[in-house]
Amino acid sequence: MSALTLKVAHLYPELLNLYGDSGNILVLNKRMGWRNIQPQVEEVHVDDTPSFADVDIAFVGGGSDREQRIVCERLLREKAELRSFVEDGGVLLAVCGGYQLLGSSYTMGDETVEGLGLVDLYTDRGTPRLIGNVAVESRISPQPIVGYENHGGRTHLGPGVEPLGKVVFGHGNDGESGEEGCLYKNVVGTYVHGPLLPKNPGVADYVISRALERKYGEANLMRLEDHVELEANRVMYRRLIDGEERE
Ligand code: GLN
Repeated sequence: MSALTLKVAHLYPELLNLYGDSGNILVLNKRMGWRNIQPQVEEVHVDDTPSFADVDIAFVGGGSDREQRIVCERLLREKAELRSFVEDGGVLLAVCGGYQLLGSSYTMGDETVEGLGLVDLYTDRGTPRLIGNVAVESRISPQPIVGYENHGGRTHLGPGVEPLGKVVFGHGNDGESGEEGCLYKNVVGTYVHGPLLPKNPGVADYVISRALERKYGEANLMRLEDHVELEANRVMYRRLIDGEERE
């Protein structure tokens, strides 16, 4: 029996679960289980008062502006605790609407919603919506990251914030910079739905490794065979890059 356990907090699955984002939790569960790492997944719902004290990985998905507003209002109460979690190296994976919440603000027309201020970035809204398949080259994944994006928000990174990667197909953060997502300490923010992790095992293992390192001081992840995952990734990438896929 393994002594390794990782606690995963799945934030507001009932509100932020666009394009199957909750599938990311299934992948984390499986990839830990296959390596004899015990996953303890806890869902956090709107009426809960979450504690991040013993959380190893927090995940927040994407949603409509309406749902995002509800979550933001709720999470602002946990702002200080979330900040300590992030500054202490807690692993936080945030997709699309969740990614936008990491920043200082999200402006939608005349309305500006205060963000969690965890990462130096902000989001405003533009037209048209940025919709379609996306491929990104990132240092955290041996394979290009592939997936799907659909957002009205344009995210702008502060000067010291590293993007998750370079857009090789699709739009990314703002459709102009050529950058996608953000990396800050052990935070990964991205617009990539799909869900993200099933076709991008490198990203899943990055998240698990960072959490193991923080908790146990080292991460020796057993290699998985990943034939199906890598084939799905390869087929999608080739389809985009070889031009079979047009927006
Ligand atoms: N509501 C946000 C936007 O439109 C995020 C959407 C999403 O999570 N896909 O920009």
